[in-house]
Amino acid sequence: MLMVDCGISFPDEDMHGVDVVIPDFSFVEEHKDKLRGVVLTHAHEDHVGALSHFLQRVNVPIYATQFTHAMIRPKLEERMDTRNLKTVTVRHGDLIPAGDMKFEFIRITHSIPETSCIGIHTEHGVVLFTADFKFDFTPVDGQLTDLKRLTELGESGVVCLLSDSTNIDRPGFGPSEQLATEGFRKAFAEASGRILITMFSSNIHRMQQAMDVAAETGRKVAVAGRRMEQTVDICTQLGYIKPPKGVRIRLDQANELPEDQVVILTTGSQGEPMSALVQMSREEYSRMRVREGDTILYSARPIPGNEAAIWQTTNRLFKLGAVVVHDANPPIHVSGHAYQDEIKMMINLTKPFYLAPVHGEPRHLHAYCEMAKAMGHAEHRMFKLQDGKKLIIDETHAWLEDATDGAELWIDKGGHIVSPQTVRERVVLSDFGLVTAVVKLSSTKGLLSVSLSSRGYSGSEVSLVRAREASEDTLGAIPVKQLSEDGFVVGKVADAIGVTLQRQASLRPMVVVDIVRV
Ligand SMILES: [Zn+2]
Ligand SMILES: [Zn+2]
Repeated sequence: MLMVDCGISFPDEDMHGVDVVIPDFSFVEEHKDKLRGVVLTHAHEDHVGALSHFLQRVNVPIYATQFTHAMIRPKLEERMDTRNLKTVTVRHGDLIPAGDMKFEFIRITHSIPETSCIGIHTEHGVVLFTADFKFDFTPVDGQLTDLKRLTELGESGVVCLLSDSTNIDRPGFGPSEQLATEGFRKAFAEASGRILITMFSSNIHRMQQAMDVAAETGRKVAVAGRRMEQTVDICTQLGYIKPPKGVRIRLDQANELPEDQVVILTTGSQGEPMSALVQMSREEYSRMRVREGDTILYSARPIPGNEAAIWQTTNRLFKLGAVVVHDANPPIHVSGHAYQDEIKMMINLTKPFYLAPVHGEPRHLHAYCEMAKAMGHAEHRMFKLQDGKKLIIDETHAWLEDATDGAELWIDKGGHIVSPQTVRERVVLSDFGLVTAVVKLSSTKGLLSVSLSSRGYSGSEVSLVRAREASEDTLGAIPVKQLSEDGFVVGKVADAIGVTLQRQASLRPMVVVDIVRV
C-alpha cells in the first residue's frame, strides 16, 4: 500500500474555531502494516500540510524530491519530533520497488518546482496520478514536463488516470507562467513609489520573476513575512532561487532607500490574520508601514472562502493611501492548473482505461466526465471520487465502494479534533449566547431557588426573570420525591427556560443547568 500526498484543506466559514481540515486516517491506520510509504507529488499545503498529523500516528518513509523535502522539513520540525523520520530523496526517472508494486516520479510543470506525476506500476497496469499540473512550455526554471515518459506509459497501458480537474471550466490552453513577468514589467512601469507584491510563500518562481524585473528596473527586493523569508533563504541556498546580484536586501535596508527603488515581497494574499500584509493594513506591523504612494500587487488567486478577508484587507490598504491591484493585463498572476485543452492532452497522451478526476469540487468532476464523454470515452469507465469512498479495480471490473469511515477530521489551533457537535454548540453560542441556571434543591423541602445568569445574551432582563419564574413554577408543581433525579430536573428546567426565552425574546441561547443539593 502507498499513500500519495497528505494534505489539508481549509474550514468553511461556519466551522467556528476549526483551523484546518485533515483526512481521516483510520483506514490507513488499520492497514499500516502494508503501508510502504507516503509519496509526495509537490510541496503545496493541500498536498503535504497534514503530514505531521499522520506521521505522529504512523511512521513510514517519506518519498519526495530534494525541493519538496527542503520545503516540508522546517514545518515538520515545528510540529513534531523529527529524529526518527525516514526520508528518501527521489529523482525524476527513478523506479522504486514497494511490495508487489513499483512507483516512479515523472516531471511535470506546475506553480512550484519539482512537481511530479506518480506512476504506480501494479499487476493490472499503471495507475497514474497527475498531481497538480499544467503544460507550461516555457517554465521559469526551464524544467519541462517529461512528455516522452507520459507517452511511454500511455503505450504500456495506463489502467487508471487520476487527473487534476481544478480548471476544467476554463476553455483552451492556459498561459505560461512567463506571462506574469510581462504583468510585473507593466505594473512596475506604472508604479512611482514602493511596490509590495503579495503571493503564496511557496511561490518560488513568482519570487524569481519579481526579483528579475526588479533588477531590470533598478529596484531592490526585501521580504516581509517569517515563512516567506525562511523559504527565500532555503531556496537561495539550494539554488532554486537565483537573486540577481545585489538585488536582495533586508527589510530595514529597504526603509532607508528612495521609494522608487524598493520592492517588498510579502505574505497575506489570502487575508490570513497573522500575515505581514494583513498586519500592515491594520497598522500593527512593527517592521514597516504602508503609506501613500505604495502600490500593492496581489499575485495570487483567492482560495474560495477567503474573499471577504481579502477585500477587507484591500479596503484598509486603500484607506492608508495605497493603490491595490488585483487584476491586470498582462496578468500579475497565472494559474498553475491545466485548462481544458491541457486536461484533454493529458488524457490523449496517457490513454487511460479508467478515468477518475480528482482535485476539484463535485461540479469540476462532473464537467471533467462530460468532457471525456465528448472525447469518446465510455461513461461506465469514469468515476467521480468522494473523500472516504474507495475506487476498487480488479482484473475485469472497477467500482466505487460506499464510504465506511469518516472522510475528514476538523482540527483546532491547539491541534485537537473538533467534533461536529462542538461546532454546532459554538454556532448557538455565537448567535444567541449562554444562559446558566443554578437550581438549589433540598431533599426535604424540594425547590429552594433558581438563579439565572447570562453571557453574550441580548434579550431583556425581564425575559430572564420570566424564565426564572417559569422554571420555579415547573419545579414547584412536581412532588418533592420526583426531584431526586438530576437528569430529570435538568431537562425540565432547560425546557422551561428555552420555551420562555423563545416566546419572550425570540432567542434560543444555549442553556446550562447546574443542580446544587443542600
Ligand atoms: Zn493542489
Ligand atoms: Zn499544487
